[in-house]
Amino acid sequence: MAEQQRSSDLAIIGAGAAGCALAAALRLRGWGGSIQLLEIGRGPGGRTATRRSRRDAGLAINHGAPLFNIGGDPEPWLLDPLRRGGWIEPFNGAIHSLDGNGHLGPTIDDGFSSGRLWQGRGGMEQLCRGLLDLAQGQAGHTELQVGCLVRHLQPQPDGWALTDPDGQPLLHCRWLVVSGTLLAHPRCQRVFGWSDVPLRSAAAQLQDPQLLEACGALAASGSQASSNLLLTLPAEATEPWRQQPWRLLQFTPAAQGRWGLRRVSLQPQGDQRLAVVAESSAAFAERHLHVYGSRSSAGQLLGAAPQAGAEAAVLEQLAQALADALQLPTAAGDRQLMRWGAAFPQAPGLEAHLQLCPASRIGFCGDAVAGNGFGRVEGALRSAEALAERLLTEQL
Ligand SMILES: Cc1cc2nc3c(=O)[nH]c(=O)nc-3n(C[C@H](O)[C@H](O)[C@H](O)COP(=O)(O)OP(=O)(O)OC[C@H]3O[C@@H](n4cnc5c(N)ncnc54)[C@H](O)[C@@H]3O)c2cc1C
Repeated sequence: MAEQQRSSDLAIIGAGAAGCALAAALRLRGWGGSIQLLEIGRGPGGRTATRRSRRDAGLAINHGAPLFNIGGDPEPWLLDPLRRGGWIEPFNGAIHSLDGNGHLGPTIDDGFSSGRLWQGRGGMEQLCRGLLDLAQGQAGHTELQVGCLVRHLQPQPDGWALTDPDGQPLLHCRWLVVSGTLLAHPRCQRVFGWSDVPLRSAAAQLQDPQLLEACGALAASGSQASSNLLLTLPAEATEPWRQQPWRLLQFTPAAQGRWGLRRVSLQPQGDQRLAVVAESSAAFAERHLHVYGSRSSAGQLLGAAPQAGAEAAVLEQLAQALADALQLPTAAGDRQLMRWGAAFPQAPGLEAHLQLCPASRIGFCGDAVAGNGFGRVEGALRSAEALAERLLTEQL
């Protein structure tokens, strides 16, 4: 049952790092209008979410980004209040690499490990929770609606009307910001079986040249997938893993080719258990794109049909590859699959001058915006900060 229509000065589609950062940046710059964030997932975070379990309260697994790096100077200004509020902390774990012969080596430059390293304090989801806290602690109404898939974007004379997949009204807003590329990309038709690409339909109605260009750029953008094994080891099986000299292990290109893995992170749980998250190579994920994790909210929300056999086979392949590459036991413990269809956007991304289309009262933020930190949390934060400044100049 759709919720009653609300209205808002600004609607932000997506409560990942970029959407939450935009709300925080506008508030900390003193903007007092109302903000609604609409998010498909069960909570904020997007690709920086921490997976929790209703059945197992002790578990908190970062199933997307396990950390983030800030390479550029000056750093995004939102980091300072996040740090001071205790929402993020330095990532001090050792990072090693594994080559195609199974030998450990020093950190390699994979784009995710240079500069200053940070993690959410108590889980990566704390990054977005902290940003939302910054947004909500200021004057002006900020609200997050979760479990809410925006399907149609209908241009109105005074803004936008958003509706859900059943055509039920969700929200009317004066200004709209879309984070993430889903609503502009033809993959939404493949994934959801939609008859059109929502943003393309809206742009065709408006005939705003800038929006048409932005839409075209987003639709043409590519991305790499990642199929992640989340292995939760019981306390008694963790010892050989804890003895490893690394917390994060990068696979060299040769190692990726051999084992189909890109990176492994060790994530200690509060109760002596250990979560091992193995991120697949892009090539492995591409071959298994149709297999969703049955316990992932994404799979459930996308209405993906359960494929227990296919999922078990993918999990077994990843676990075997992990055991083979590291010569460590993976048989014990609980296995889950997290499949990210669009984990990493590919360059060139959306040019910064297309981030805001004032004539149509729509803007874009997210790691797919070209610039410093592209394809990473840093880029998501920077894109949000830049868009906030542009919106304030437009006197939204
Ligand atoms: C496995 C993995 C590992 C990674 N490792 C690192 C790393 O080590 N370091 C690093 O810096 N970055 C890493 N990244 C990338 C990083 O997670 C992203 O760059 C960053 O989180 C992007 O934030 P975002 O807000 O732009 O996008 P997202 O986090 O994708 O947020 C977009 C949000 O919009 C929501 N949404 C989209 N369409 C709709 C709709 N129609 N209706 C409602 N909601 C919608 C989505 O559910 C999502 O929550 C990793 C990513 C993955 C997947």
